Amino acid sequence: MRAGRDPEQVKLIAVSKVFPAEAIRAAYEAGLRDFGENYVQEFEHKSMELGNLIGATFHLIGHLQTNKARRAVQLFDVIQTVDSERLAQRLEQAAATLKPGGKLEVMIEVKLSGEPSKSGAPPEELDRLVEVLRTCPHLKLTGLMTMPPFSDDPEAARPYFRRLRALAEAYKLPHLSMGMSQDFEVAVEEGATHVRIGTALFGARRPAWK
Ligand SMILES: *Cc1c(COP(=O)(O)O)cnc(C)c1O
Repeated sequence: MRAGRDPEQVKLIAVSKVFPAEAIRAAYEAGLRDFGENYVQEFEHKSMELGNLIGATFHLIGHLQTNKARRAVQLFDVIQTVDSERLAQRLEQAAATLKPGGKLEVMIEVKLSGEPSKSGAPPEELDRLVEVLRTCPHLKLTGLMTMPPFSDDPEAARPYFRRLRALAEAYKLPHLSMGMSQDFEVAVEEGATHVRIGTALFGARRPAWK
């Protein structure tokens, strides 16, 4: 790999939002095991069609509303978009009843740009959120996730990826979910452990959904 990293250390998450269940099944048959979905309701329908894909891991990578926390815990293996204490508490409550003997893997979505439309916890709230999540007995905090502002230039994302890595190191969190079709090479150079790829795998989404 160009970045000089072992490909085994970077997980490819196939982002299947908007595409039908058959697209997930085809990707699974081609050997992919990690899938990312943005919307609880959309995935609810697809997961019924999919049934049990042995060994597959489903990541929620879109914003999660607290009132859908319970459903999300039933449907997903990893929630990458925890961004508030309130959501952390709802997830803990849901995991306590749905996974009594286990733990739900979660990551914190960090908002590193000032864009009002973006979700994620601002960096100044991380101290508190990390502390809260670490005291939740049914949640396992493994890393940070971010989405830099959209740009045609992949290099524009580099400072955001660098910043996320520094934050993850400061909190001793091993996972870094960063990089999409456009900028995943830069993300891998900056230490991504999970890249989230939609367009480059499944083709363009209908613009209205993007
Ligand atoms: C849609 C989406 C992706 C995938 O984006 P592509 O540019 O299609 O690779 C990755 N992460 C998040 C959070 C997304 O919403």
